[in-house]
Amino acid sequence: MTFTTFSFDQRINASVEACGYQAPTPIQSQTIPLILQGHDVMGLAQTGTGKTAAFALPILQRLLAKRSAGNAPSVLVLAPTRELAQQINENFTAFARRTGIRSSVVMGGVGMKPQIKAFKSSQVIVACPGRLVGLMAQNAVNLSAIDTLVLDEADRMLDMGFMPDIKRILAQLPAKRQNLLFSATMPNSIRVFAERILSDPKTVRINTAKPVTSIEHAFYNTCNSEKNALLENLIKNTEHQSMLIFTRTKHKAKSLARRLSQNGHNATFLQGNMSQRQRENALNGFRSGRFSIMVATDIAARGIDCDRISHVINYDMPDTVEAYTHRTGRTGRAGRSGKAISLVTRDDAAQLRAIQRTMNISVKPQSVQIPVEERDRNERKAPRPRRKPVNRSAANKGRTPARRGPRAA
Ligand code: AMP
Repeated sequence: MTFTTFSFDQRINASVEACGYQAPTPIQSQTIPLILQGHDVMGLAQTGTGKTAAFALPILQRLLAKRSAGNAPSVLVLAPTRELAQQINENFTAFARRTGIRSSVVMGGVGMKPQIKAFKSSQVIVACPGRLVGLMAQNAVNLSAIDTLVLDEADRMLDMGFMPDIKRILAQLPAKRQNLLFSATMPNSIRVFAERILSDPKTVRINTAKPVTSIEHAFYNTCNSEKNALLENLIKNTEHQSMLIFTRTKHKAKSLARRLSQNGHNATFLQGNMSQRQRENALNGFRSGRFSIMVATDIAARGIDCDRISHVINYDMPDTVEAYTHRTGRTGRAGRSGKAISLVTRDDAAQLRAIQRTMNISVKPQSVQIPVEERDRNERKAPRPRRKPVNRSAANKGRTPARRGPRAA
């Protein structure tokens, strides 16, 4: 099958060719005809399968066909993170280059004024829910002409607590519209959400629960005090192009990137506490190859599309099977091969079983003997406990038992 099957406008075909796409991916070949026919679509596919073009190309085709450009956008795409929103907007802009259709991004971390202006000149708005609701609260945007809504990475948007914002946005949209919902996973919450939003949808499912075959999975037994030494050892002994390393906390992402830089690696980090400019610098540096390693938290790394990522390393195991799917989906993209490596401690045993069972991965965790001097060099110095006399019964009054804190990003 080729893209000519879809009978796209020749300007769209030319853009697709300029992007170097020769044949549609499975999600594209199944979804594009349905969107062109005007159906609501539920697309279940992992990241890296070509989802963006699967909705962007037919949306542009439909826009060209009706082409009565008013002064309000008619397509709204909602995405969970700034990085993903920017990426989708870049894709729309590239595909629409020859058509005169404009796409703009609406997200936090940058000024509001240009975004408000963009609403008057763009047909497509790609937005993060939080910023869009902020603009709506100021009565600064007009959503009355939206006739196509895309919810990308819907599972992640719900995980991130965007449901109230999404409800506020939906309340402002015209009832008659085409709805497209994409999700890498299908938890019950998405099923319920989809039932509410989609009208008589067609479902396209591309191997959701199975690992992408282009990704090789490996697991290494370790303990917290040996993780740094093991990581160093793996980096040293693995031929890699670019590595994306995931940590549980923002603080760890930063401190680990610093440690790796001190050890002579070109490392940067990406987490939610950084300014927009810092995030872009890190991401652009990683994409261009200036940094060969990026340490990131889950939220910040969501949606990153970087061809160069040959390895994803879970320095800390993810909380859920879905998160494992998303993280490891950063490598092995668009038919390339990649490797996912996870450092597994005793505390992660149950999580590892859940991941292996759900994703049908039968690889056994392996152990690496780290030379003593390497271990000592990398061992984290634990802060010395403060020796302050306390009245224990008074100090413990009203306290809840210690538990793992939430995983910030
Ligand atoms: P996505 O899942 O939309 O993030 O796309 C993942 C990667 O696949 C991106 O780098 C796209 O540019 C690339 N891609 C999308 N569709 C195709 C295609 N038909 N042929 C080759 N690469 C593609």
